[in-house]
Amino acid sequence: MSPDGPISLVEFDRMAVDRLSGVGPKKLSSLKSMGLTSLYDLLTHYPRRYVDRSKERRISDLRIGEEALVLGRVRSVSQRRTQNRRTIVTADIRDDSGTIRCTFFNQPWREKQLSGAPGDGGSSVEVALFGKVEDFRGQRQMTNPVVDLLGNRTGRIVPIYPQSEKVRLTTWEIAGWVEQVIRRSEARGIEDPVPAEVLADLGLVDRVTAITGIHLPPTMAAMVRARERLVFDEVFRIQLSLVRSKREIERSSTGIAHSVATPDGLAARFLAGLPFPLTSAQERAIADIEGDLASVVPMHRLLQGDVGSGKTVVAVAALLRGIEGGYQGAFMAPTEVLAEQHYSSISRMLDGVTVEGREHNLFGDSVEMALLTNRTPAAARRRIAAGLVDGSIDLLVGTHALLEESVVFGGLGVVVIDEQHRFGVEQRAALRRTNPDQTVPDVLVMTATPIPRTAAMTVYGDLDQTEIREMPIGRSPIITTAARTDQQVDDTWRFVRSEVEAGNRGFVVCPLIDESDKLEAASAEATFEQLSGGELAGLRLGLRHGRMASADKADVMDRFRTGALDVLVATTVIEVGVDVPEATVMVILDADRFGIAQLHQLRGRVGRGSAQGHCVLVAGADLTDDAERRIQALVASTDGFALAEVDLDLRGEGTVMGERQKGRNDLKLASLKRDVDAIVAARAVAEQLVGDGDGLDRYPSLEAELGLLEPEDEEFLLKS
Ligand code: ADP
Ligand code: MG
Repeated sequence: MSPDGPISLVEFDRMAVDRLSGVGPKKLSSLKSMGLTSLYDLLTHYPRRYVDRSKERRISDLRIGEEALVLGRVRSVSQRRTQNRRTIVTADIRDDSGTIRCTFFNQPWREKQLSGAPGDGGSSVEVALFGKVEDFRGQRQMTNPVVDLLGNRTGRIVPIYPQSEKVRLTTWEIAGWVEQVIRRSEARGIEDPVPAEVLADLGLVDRVTAITGIHLPPTMAAMVRARERLVFDEVFRIQLSLVRSKREIERSSTGIAHSVATPDGLAARFLAGLPFPLTSAQERAIADIEGDLASVVPMHRLLQGDVGSGKTVVAVAALLRGIEGGYQGAFMAPTEVLAEQHYSSISRMLDGVTVEGREHNLFGDSVEMALLTNRTPAAARRRIAAGLVDGSIDLLVGTHALLEESVVFGGLGVVVIDEQHRFGVEQRAALRRTNPDQTVPDVLVMTATPIPRTAAMTVYGDLDQTEIREMPIGRSPIITTAARTDQQVDDTWRFVRSEVEAGNRGFVVCPLIDESDKLEAASAEATFEQLSGGELAGLRLGLRHGRMASADKADVMDRFRTGALDVLVATTVIEVGVDVPEATVMVILDADRFGIAQLHQLRGRVGRGSAQGHCVLVAGADLTDDAERRIQALVASTDGFALAEVDLDLRGEGTVMGERQKGRNDLKLASLKRDVDAIVAARAVAEQLVGDGDGLDRYPSLEAELGLLEPEDEEFLLKS
């Protein structure tokens, strides 16, 4: 590229902010503490909002009760304290038509903010107020309005930048530097590496228009168009990286082309022998997976579906496809309890399923399974190690003990990872180990905590996706109610009693273990005492929490499982893995303290048998709006996918990103919930451009931009 061609984002990233006029050592360190070191950082430091002067109202024209934008200058500011030690700051703001009073409760810093901005000579700074106009003893007033210091900026639309309280940088200083960058690049122009046809197809503006439009919008409509383009760029870069690394994995390793067409093979006989027909969602999932298995490209697929949707059956069918071809399978669960359960339930499922034409061990033709956890004794470990190497073990079930280097397979064909949001990408990569013949196994990741599709496209964008959004027929959804009054809580305990009398069992879940946990919430110990002596007196109650010795934990679980206990009072230790078909009722105390996903998982512990399951969410009458919405969502739906949407809506991207990508912060404008269309479009374009893997060679500047993703992300992308 010629030295005076258009400037690329990568070049902006190489230029330090101290090249700007007005940035001396002091400002430089302030900028640095805000994470703004390069011109690229500055250009992607987007306004938090805008003040649109065309919406400005004259103070004398304001009517009581309306919401309005007012621009004026501060006349006076004062602060006082009320008897109950609250601070009140009042300020009079004046324009050429009149004065309005602003009252701020508990915002003591407003006094300093409004008494004059740094370097701007007293209170001559223009201030924008947005709020509801009230009447206070005949004078117009706003209480806790949105306040922006505008400096002395002109222009119809004034961008307001995020600032940090600590560093003394004003929004107009930042605006000035951003504008300087934009003006100075006018001569050379800004490079736009996204192909023009793509932009035209998607109706997106070019990059210069976008950068200018977000920082110096001529109209709010222009700002919206600018944002659209910049959002696309953000999600597009992520999708390009994900698709590219996905293709790299596919090409750099050789998978196994499993034979999936054997009509009387193990997998087919297993499926045919099931006492129920598969749901169509299960059939589709198996078809997706068999397509991957048959291909020489290693499978790397995510299977999402609620607890009980029948993922395990699908996974076992996949494992058996490998085993019937002479390979081994591995099934990794997040906890010992789960590993043990999977081991016994898969053993039951495979009872009677035989491997034809093989006499490799004492047990003849059955599928040979082994369980490996941290509890496995050394002698058994040695036996397992030998069996894995000589191929006499077909299927190894276990915890992350499977990842240890001493665990060496003779020929690993299919790996299933039951993720439950607990395994990291590194661990997943570790299981994708190479066989002696240099092939890598096919990997299926399962999760029972679904995340919305577009979020999954970003968070798990390196995996192919299959969803099971259908429950087996005849399964009646758990009936969920909320108990909000004392009367309803009493009724709840009566209901638990009647369920026990009918021969069923129940759980009572508490947020805390004991009272020393300080927070005002139900503790398992106190609840156990209270219920034993009161509401549930006469029933056989057990207590289980994480601080108990593990022998005691196992003992109480056994007694609950076998029916020696009627009701188990527990903390969330029962969230995953507890499978007691006779448990029909779950009471969750202080349910407002739990997140949606956690409540949904807890609820999944009941209704696993044929009897109708019930869940009662006990919560106070006076909840925050968010807590109220969480409870309502659980009452309204048993669909984990629908609940995941609500969760994303309430909590934002942090919920889904946090688990896998701590520190990902390259989504500056884009939102996983709002910008669904952009993500879908970006994925499609990324797949088209990357092609088989080398596609980006034709778009070197686009490829270079991928280097702008945060370092953590790159690491994440490479590992996954
Ligand atoms: P998941 O792994 O998704 O939680 P499982 O595969 O363990 O679900 O299935 C839960 C229960 O439902 C098991 O007892 C299983 O045998 C049963 N099941 C699975 N698929 C079906 C189906 N299509 N029809 C009826 N029952 C099914
Ligand atoms: Mg394959």
